[in-house]
Order: sequence, then structure tokens, then C-alpha cells
Amino acid sequence: MNNKMMADRDLDVIWHPCTQMKDHEFLPMIPIKKGEGVYLEDFEGNRYIDAVSSWWVNMFGHANGYINAAVKKQLDTLEHVILAGFTHEQVIRLSERLVKLTPEGLTRCFYADNGSSAIEVALKMSYHFHKNQGRERSLFVSLSNSYHGETIGALSVGDVELYKETYEPLLIRSIQTPVPKDQSEEAALEAAAALAECFKTRHEEIAALIVEPLIQGAGSMHMYHPLYLTKARELCDVYGIHLIADEVMAGFGRTGTMFACEQAGITPDYMVLSKGLTGGYLPLSVVLTTEEVYAAFYCDYGLYKAFLHSHSYTGNALACAAANATLDLFESENVIEKNRDNSNYIASKLQAFETLANVKEVRQCGMVAAVELEGYAPQERIGLKVYEYGLKHGVLLRPLGHIVYFMPPYIISKEEIDIMMDTAYQAISHLPSAVVK
Ligand SMILES: *Cc1c(COP(=O)(O)O)cnc(C)c1O
Repeated sequence: MNNKMMADRDLDVIWHPCTQMKDHEFLPMIPIKKGEGVYLEDFEGNRYIDAVSSWWVNMFGHANGYINAAVKKQLDTLEHVILAGFTHEQVIRLSERLVKLTPEGLTRCFYADNGSSAIEVALKMSYHFHKNQGRERSLFVSLSNSYHGETIGALSVGDVELYKETYEPLLIRSIQTPVPKDQSEEAALEAAAALAECFKTRHEEIAALIVEPLIQGAGSMHMYHPLYLTKARELCDVYGIHLIADEVMAGFGRTGTMFACEQAGITPDYMVLSKGLTGGYLPLSVVLTTEEVYAAFYCDYGLYKAFLHSHSYTGNALACAAANATLDLFESENVIEKNRDNSNYIASKLQAFETLANVKEVRQCGMVAAVELEGYAPQERIGLKVYEYGLKHGVLLRPLGHIVYFMPPYIISKEEIDIMMDTAYQAISHLPSAVVK
């Protein structure tokens, strides 16, 4: 079985995510036979460094021995059980640990099975909280350029036109307030002033503000200063508006701390986690919230006051086992500390990109780095050229338009960082008009 044969079978029956399928008339589909550490290997033995952590989920490499063993062990014990009226050890243990790890005041875990679903949970919970308290608040505020997933509610609070525009008539009510325009404190204060203005005029309708703390992932890896989060928390408190921290991507060390909110010293009313939660193994997500929110749904009588949201695979035992194993690795391997060393190394390598004339800006937040290109029209599909160059040279880079970024698994070595970033550098310098400044 070679790549071509697998690709042909695939294209006969599969409709892929986030893809114009016609592109596969010229773009080869890459069937992956196995994964090992930061590497993915296809059916012809070509290996690729997974510089995007397989869509930002992988933390400790593919086929990680420790996580594998934990999932296998769980498989022989309990694969899954209904989470209404029943519970199991893995989900209890995971919840206890998450409550300890996340900012002070988050004490309750509600599970779903992917990032978007967990966003739906947070939005519905916030709306319902206000309703249980006798207030009708059906408007959500989010940041310009934000991304929160692609189910209808999550899409509604997002602001990436490409994903959202077509579905406009189907969406729930949301408005956008400007995201800080860069990583400076001044930009944070400027955006906080705009938020204050927005809240001042419309606070009676607003249930919650939802943000991606510190990094807007799908929104071109745009980054901003933690001061904005501190200010947003203060403003939410003034008006009794909930703060939803979407740490689906930022959580579990990506920004340099276990959770991005830590850098602002805040506790959101809801913290949404997924992607890295299971180390990139299995779909699972969780919304952590406060006693105050929990209490507003707790009463003797009346199902309408209870939160009836449910997913069949809520709190799946295998996924929770993978998550517990992932947290074990964070503890035993001193990961956050070690990542500091890796992100310093990435920072030093990032400087070289600034010498290229087609690079507008480089930016970094913890274990995420981005190189923004300029001077190309969208129809040049410059990202695709970098993608193809990367694959030819053994690196899976998947630029967001003209943003080339690095978000590797944490187990990446310095030598592998060299290959990953040098290949990207070569790819960018092979683009038309890339002269050294
Ligand atoms: C990926 C992502 C989501 C959606 O998660 P899915 O599991 O893909 O549904 C939501 N918010 C952010 C910030 C994300 O990066």
C-alpha cells in the first residue's frame, strides 16, 4: 500500500475538514501510517516534523509510551459509562486535579467532547445563569478577529469572516469589541477603553464577554498583553457580566504558563479547555466554573432551572485516562519550566526571519511563534507554497494565510527546532520577492 493508493481510496469516500476538496486535484493527500514523537510517517517512509501539533492538540508527541499505557490500561477496565447518575474514577480524579490547577475560585467541571461544544456549554450556561436570576441577557460580546469554534453558537461569537460570513443568517446575537492591536500595554489600555464604552451603553443586554486569552489562534496568531485581561475582568465585575476564557488552544502551557489567565492574575467565570487536555489523544473538553454559577442552578424543584445540556460521550473514561496521564507528565517532567528554555531558543531563531524583506513582523508567546509575511495578494496562496515546501523537506507547516507559525509538541528537541525553523526560513526565502534586507 503506497501513498497514492491510500490517497485514492480516501478521496473516493472522505470529505475533509477546512478544505476546498478540488485542491486535491493537484495537492497530494498525505496518508499517515504511524506517529512517533514529533514525527509523522507516511506509507512510503517519509517523515514529517509535526510543527502544528496536529491542529494544536499534541503535547508530548505521537504514540507517547506513557499515555499509551494509561489508555490501554483503562481500556481493559472501563471504556465508557453514562455520566448522568453515574460516575467513574478517571473523571473524578481529573476534575479534582483541574480544580487544583486552574485559577482560584473555579470549582466545578462540566464536560463535553470538543472545543466548540464546550463553548456552547459556556454560552448557554451564562445565558441560563442570568435567566435563573430573573434577567434576560441574550447578547454576547467577543473580540474582533476572535475564533471560538464552528458550531452555530461558537461561530456566532467568532469574528473570522472566512468561516462566519456565509452563515450570518443562522447566528445568535453577538457584537465585537476591538482586540488590542499588538502586545504593548498601550494597546491593551486602548482596547480596554473601548470595552468600557461598549459595556456602558449595552450592559443590560450582555450575558458574557468571551475572549481567547493572550493569543488569538485561528485569527492569525494575533497576540496581546495580559493587562487587557486584568482590565476586562474589572469591567465585567462592575456590570455583572460573565467573563468566559476560551483556553481551548492557550491552555496547558502553550502561552508559557499552565493557563494564560495566570499571567493576568484573573479568575474567569468560565474557563474552557480542550485540545491539549488529553495530550492530543482523544476528544474531550471541559468548562470549569464557580460556586456562584453552580449555585444558581441548584434548587429543590424545577428542572427548568437545571442545566440539561448533554452529550452522549460526556466525560468518556478513555479520554479522561489520557487526560490524567497528560497531567502526570506535566508534573513529573517539569514541563512548564523546560518549555521556557525551548521558547527562548525559538525566540533566538526567530530573529533571523526579520532580515527577510517579505517578513512584516515576528511574534511569540511562550511555545507559539509566528512569522507574518507581507506583499502578497490572497490569490497568490502564499501559505500553500510554504506548506508544499515544508512537506517536501520533512516539516508539516500549515500557515494561516500569510502567517507561518510554529506550535510544536513540547518534547521537540533543539535539533528538531532547527530543522523546523530553518525549513520555514528556506520556504519563505524561496517565495517570490524575498530578498534579504
Ligand atoms: C480549536 C478552537 C476551538 C474549537 O475547538 P474544536 O475542538 O475544534 O471544536 C475553540 N476555541 C479556540 C480558541 C480554538 O483554538
